[in-house]
Amino acid sequence: MAILGSTGSIGTQALDIIEAHPQRFKAHVLVAGRNVDLLIEQARKHRPALAVIAAESGYEALSRALQPLGIATAAGAQAVADAMTLAEVDTVLTATVGYSGLAPTISAIKAGKDIALANKETLVVAGDLVNKMLGESTSRIYPVDSEHSAIRQCLAGEHHSAVRRLIITASGGPFRAMSREQMQRVTVDQALAHPNWHMGAKITIDSASMVNKAFEIIEAHWLFGIPHKCITPVVHPQSIVHSMVEFADGAVKAQLGTPDMHLPISYALAGDERLRSQSKPLSLADIAHLTFEAPDYDRFPCLSLATLALERGGNTACVINAANEVAVEAFLHRRIAFTDIYNLIRHTLEHIDFVLSPSYHDYVDTNAAAVAFARSAVDAGAIPAYSY
Ligand code: NDP
Repeated sequence: MAILGSTGSIGTQALDIIEAHPQRFKAHVLVAGRNVDLLIEQARKHRPALAVIAAESGYEALSRALQPLGIATAAGAQAVADAMTLAEVDTVLTATVGYSGLAPTISAIKAGKDIALANKETLVVAGDLVNKMLGESTSRIYPVDSEHSAIRQCLAGEHHSAVRRLIITASGGPFRAMSREQMQRVTVDQALAHPNWHMGAKITIDSASMVNKAFEIIEAHWLFGIPHKCITPVVHPQSIVHSMVEFADGAVKAQLGTPDMHLPISYALAGDERLRSQSKPLSLADIAHLTFEAPDYDRFPCLSLATLALERGGNTACVINAANEVAVEAFLHRRIAFTDIYNLIRHTLEHIDFVLSPSYHDYVDTNAAAVAFARSAVDAGAIPAYSY
């Protein structure tokens, strides 16, 4: 395996699974962004053939620590993309964050590697291009996101033509019961306090704004080939039902489990096989209540971005993703209010040229232009307010 983002929330949990199944998996490549100390620690334990750090400033420390152990080292974006193509790698777990997942995922697909996809932004940014490349490759894609893993488990043994609707559950995040006015004043610490999941900072903010759910609708559209009108989000605060599929005869299948990413990661790494796990069993009697409610688009306007992205198509979702990355970073640095995340995305969308059938290079250019525009709007402190 190659673990892209081994030092993050998904990456470290994937290494737990690899450690628990040594006869099944071997981490051949570990890739981190900047956390060189943790990467060195992981490499000492898992003994990959290659450890790569995306930030070139980490290279000296990495090579000094690992080369005496016979572990090859490399740094930089090109080295990350190249590491995905090594002959010994069968499966790449894409657990990096944001747009940075696109180039290495494309590199892995071109080399015929299977993809355990955590980095949903890859499909958000360029789902049509990735699908086209998958069609020309032997690579298969296995979703890690708990919702998409649930849908895949519900679809096992079913005919695609019998699917009426995908029902994607959402916890509602920490601000589920707040008014939009209250959300204007929330702090970074409040936004980072997700009620059910312990995840990296970016996806935690995306969950609070519900950008994450919009991205998951886009991801589901590209993964399962279902029109967005047949993908319904529903708020389920307990995060026990991970998602559902409704079929032509009215039957609804659901996948349930405790909120623990080890299960979907393991199902993806094993290529849809069920591995033994020591995770705490689900006790429905202890939980007692499972509740569901319709999402409120007025309070969570970011949810509407999925429809906007898929109806307009082209590079729209790429612009949304880029503006969101800038907005999340600015919010985490206390430079914009939480509610400005949506405003900055809408503002950026109005200023970036639309491209109907983007090539890879169009996506690269779109991302760069949208990031530059969104950053200049944050610097100027000029983000207009938009209503849903
Ligand atoms: P984290 O922020 O915890 O981890 C991100 C990882 O990516 C870190 O290892 C980081 O390295 C690495 N990284 C960052 N930039 C680069 C880069 N340019 N090149 C290579 N590696 C890089 O994120 P999560 O694990 O929470 O999320 C990862 C992905 O999985 C996201 O797309 C998220 O949406 C998705 N996901 C996450 C879930 C979760 O439970 N966490 C659930 C479902 C999906 P470093 O820390 O060393 O800088």
